[in-house]
Amino acid sequence: MDGLPTGLLLVSHSLALAQATEALVRQMTGARLPIALAAGAGPDKAELGTDSLAILEAGEALCACGQIVVLMDIGSAVLSAEMALDLAEEPLKSKLHLAAAPFVEGALAAGVAASAGLPVAAVLAEAAAGLRPKLSALGGQAQNAVPAIQASLTRAVTLGDPNGLHLRPAARCVAIAAGFDATLRLACKGRVAGLESLTGLMALGAKGGDVVTIEASGPQAAQAAEALAAILAEVPAAQPHEPAPQTGAGPVPISPGRVAGRLVVAARHLPPIPDTPDEAPEGGWATLQAAIARVRAHLGEGLILGAQAALLTDPAILAPAKAGIFEHGLHPAAAWHRAIAQAAAGYEALEDAYLRARGRDVREMGDEVLRVLLGGGGLAWPTEPCVLLVEDLSAAEAAALPPEILGVLDRRGGRTSHAAILLRAAGVPCLGGVTFAAPPEAVAFDGATGDLIADPDVQTRAAFAPPRAASAGPASIALPDGTGLEFWANVAGAADAALAARSGAHGIGLARTEMLFLDRLDCPTEEEQAARIGAMLAPFKGRPVTVRLLDAGADKPVPFLHLAPEENPALGVRGVRALLKHPEFCATHLRAVLRAGAAHDLRVMVPMITFPEEMRTLRQWLETACRETGLPCPPLGAMVEVPAAALAIPDLVPVCDFFSIGTNDLTQYTLAAERGNQELAAFADPANEVVIGLCARVVRHAAGRPVSVCGEAAGDERAARKLVAAGIRKLSMGAARLGPIRALWQ
Ligand code: PEP
Ligand code: MG
Repeated sequence: MDGLPTGLLLVSHSLALAQATEALVRQMTGARLPIALAAGAGPDKAELGTDSLAILEAGEALCACGQIVVLMDIGSAVLSAEMALDLAEEPLKSKLHLAAAPFVEGALAAGVAASAGLPVAAVLAEAAAGLRPKLSALGGQAQNAVPAIQASLTRAVTLGDPNGLHLRPAARCVAIAAGFDATLRLACKGRVAGLESLTGLMALGAKGGDVVTIEASGPQAAQAAEALAAILAEVPAAQPHEPAPQTGAGPVPISPGRVAGRLVVAARHLPPIPDTPDEAPEGGWATLQAAIARVRAHLGEGLILGAQAALLTDPAILAPAKAGIFEHGLHPAAAWHRAIAQAAAGYEALEDAYLRARGRDVREMGDEVLRVLLGGGGLAWPTEPCVLLVEDLSAAEAAALPPEILGVLDRRGGRTSHAAILLRAAGVPCLGGVTFAAPPEAVAFDGATGDLIADPDVQTRAAFAPPRAASAGPASIALPDGTGLEFWANVAGAADAALAARSGAHGIGLARTEMLFLDRLDCPTEEEQAARIGAMLAPFKGRPVTVRLLDAGADKPVPFLHLAPEENPALGVRGVRALLKHPEFCATHLRAVLRAGAAHDLRVMVPMITFPEEMRTLRQWLETACRETGLPCPPLGAMVEVPAAALAIPDLVPVCDFFSIGTNDLTQYTLAAERGNQELAAFADPANEVVIGLCARVVRHAAGRPVSVCGEAAGDERAARKLVAAGIRKLSMGAARLGPIRALWQ
């Protein structure tokens, strides 16, 4: 791809027809797609006719495009376009491609494909296939192969759902049908669809009250028909069009603070899609399947998202994607993008408004897969102060949050997700599990209590206005037993480090280095790492700083390490495991950390330690880095966040200079509850007794080694009290929590 857009040139006998077609295309693509018209004849183009020179002129108007796809209506329009092509000079000549496609349908399909950024060959193919939805709908050459069967059994069912055979019942039908040894079809109003294709089933256009006939053959025909009939006849209890919250539990407090402001629904953009594959078709296909599996696993089996995720394995999408990889030599992302655009356009061409809207689901799900495939893509940030409504804010996005974002409402989001941690550190209020039937213009909310008010009046807005200045206080205080309690800061970037320094933190208890590089596709050099880590430490000059080595993996994928997709990344190659797999990177990283910390009282900390052997290897590597840089060897400590490490502290004592307990991961692994999963919010209690018990155990067995807590528990009032009672004397937390936690003992 040359990066330049592909434009459409509409050649028609009628100016009115060309204009109306342009309007139709723009409905699908928006205003940005370059389109030019060459239509009508006579001085004001009011007569019917086409003209080669007008086509050339329109072509010139699109000269900024990389390629131009020409759609022609009937008869002489084609001749005029061919003549224009003959007359054209370079570079225009080689940009012009005449599409052998129906005018209106072809323009729509080509417009969708071009605005999706597909290569011109794919745009032409889409245009040529523009008739497919109509053929399918009218029983011509079907869009999706429908299994030919000699039905041994037919069964008529009246569709119970007043909304018809929409996404969720269709997805359930496909899922249930797959479990039977039977060949199955559904027929309705003269149309037929196989049970393996969601797209096909929804294209039946079956409405509530319509009679649908199940046709079945094979050993389990009767059982399969029975199961399908039950789904089809079911009258749903709730209106499925309403976006019901996943748990029904209402908003979940994620980051405290009160805020009021205009609500902006976040939009995510995608990274550029490569034109040429970087691996053989077999590899590309495997990569695509792994990306789909990852998105499906992430979306889970919830009522709404599970049904949407089922779209991803629809043969009507997978088959053209596979063909794109194997037959057209496309990059898996390009093949997938094309298949998604085609399937979505199929929905969007349907008559039924509800089914048309499913095109958006297909695109959304498709984009999720593209983000996994392309490793990134992010939010288009608003430039005016507002509250952001977002779907599952990622850690990278939270790290890059601009100051205009006053607060975040996340449709998903868990309390100890990395995004949540960063928001709390930055003092940005946030609620999770937030759904709106229709997003209001403005909101006011309280990130501590979960109160959420749509379209607040002036008084409410004023009551929720944010007081957000960091208050300074002592770095430590004396407890009644005579011991000192130190308040340290967790930082993820230069801005929150500056805030933490102003708040009087004793030092940096946890510098999350990976947050500096979450969006990097290429590996940062030693200089760059040293500079960025150095900038993060700078506000703490002269004070102790604890730099954690890159904690990549799970919800912090760090694209440049190219970690393979995993079924269960939280239990996978993350933290020290990822570091040990990349000795060269680790050597550079260690040198950069040493250089960044040279002006400080530096300590280095290793994430996700399980075994002493891991620490031994890291210590050897650290010593090598010290020799190479000529810098002194700093204390090396382990994060205790794997239950095995907490239970086997005596084994770690000989190889660790200090310990820092990461209660976020320790909690998720101890309670077997994923930290970012909002449905498991009840498991994410930072003051969980079993986890506090493990912390107490670490203190008891640390043989005098310093022990701190740097998980979110340290910044939670209830948990902090319990941790101090358990013997912890160093609490490290986001800057915004220092004030409230200090206040417990002041
Ligand atoms: C933790 O797990 O508690 C921790 C501090 O590390 P992170 O949140 O970055 O995984
Ligand atoms: Mg952790």
